[in-house]
Amino acid sequence: MAEPGEHIIHRKIIHIDMDAFYASVEQRDNPELRGKPLVVGGLPEGRGGVVATASYEARKFGIRSAMPSKTAQKLCPDALFVRPRFAEYKEVSRCIREIFSRYTDLIEPLSLDEAYLDVTDDKLNIGSAIEIAKQIKQAIKDELHLTASAGVSINKFVAKIASDINKPDGLTFIGPSSIQNFMEKLPVEKFHGVGKVTAQKMKGMNLHTGLDLKQLNEDEMIRHFGKAGRFYYQIVRGIDNRAVQPHRETKSMGAEDTFAYDLTETDEMHLELDKLAQKVVERLQKYQLKGRTLTLKIKYSDFKQITRNQSFSAPIADLETIQQTAKQLLANTEQDKKIRLLGISLSNFNEVVMPVKDDYGQLKLF
Ligand SMILES: [Mg+2]
Repeated sequence: MAEPGEHIIHRKIIHIDMDAFYASVEQRDNPELRGKPLVVGGLPEGRGGVVATASYEARKFGIRSAMPSKTAQKLCPDALFVRPRFAEYKEVSRCIREIFSRYTDLIEPLSLDEAYLDVTDDKLNIGSAIEIAKQIKQAIKDELHLTASAGVSINKFVAKIASDINKPDGLTFIGPSSIQNFMEKLPVEKFHGVGKVTAQKMKGMNLHTGLDLKQLNEDEMIRHFGKAGRFYYQIVRGIDNRAVQPHRETKSMGAEDTFAYDLTETDEMHLELDKLAQKVVERLQKYQLKGRTLTLKIKYSDFKQITRNQSFSAPIADLETIQQTAKQLLANTEQDKKIRLLGISLSNFNEVVMPVKDDYGQLKLF
């Protein structure tokens, strides 16, 4: 936790969840299925078929995902059943991610139809996470003819719960000042990560809401619920410092600079590396990321490019280590070549649990 007087960066996290994804794609592509109770999944005639997704019309009859298709048919004899077309859903999912990527590269897909976005520092400098969520929903509607629900908050846990509140086509914002109250009222079975068994156990202990869970101290939580108890203890207080973990392909963050004239002196190269390291550290802090691998990129005056990297046993994000490592890597390259570009990047991210001292991120930023 932050000390009194310390400022915490409030990250801006959006959780986007497509509404009845498979069923909505089928209804979009086949007008005859629109407005009807539709089940995408195994056919009821087959053995062991289950519901993958039910349309909202089918949900009115109590049909739910993972339910046997036979049961679904009993609940709603008029329901229509179609087999899933995963290749199509993957393609739509790719288009959705392309829309996300207009706003941020910090995208963590959870499945084909769900993702976390960190828009603390959005590419278009919109600044408002609510506005970004609105624009994303609109783009999905206009370009893909589908609806999504969005949850906006300062962490993943609350954003995910928020996206579920006004489904379908919802947008729910839970800001820093309302998180505590929201978590206290939340029924324990709504805590994602709390499965059925744990929820039953909690209820058996007369723990029904977040407020009930709050009465237990951290040791008691760990004693009753093991390792997860520690997570519940924090989450019920609105604390979730898990970083949005971007896609593997985009899992690096750095800075580079092409110089007005080629560098020949070690001193000026060091000066440039120090500046780049500073930029990298600022970006890492903004996203609360640390990396295990540092990569130095060099482009010579003849346009030949090399990279050198070093990995660490523990993730790093501090200026001194980054500066020193970059200089060491530079020292192990050819010394007498002119350099036109230098770059430093970090990759191999993992989570950081401590808030960072800084000045931005008040409620108005949303
Ligand atoms: Mg969904």
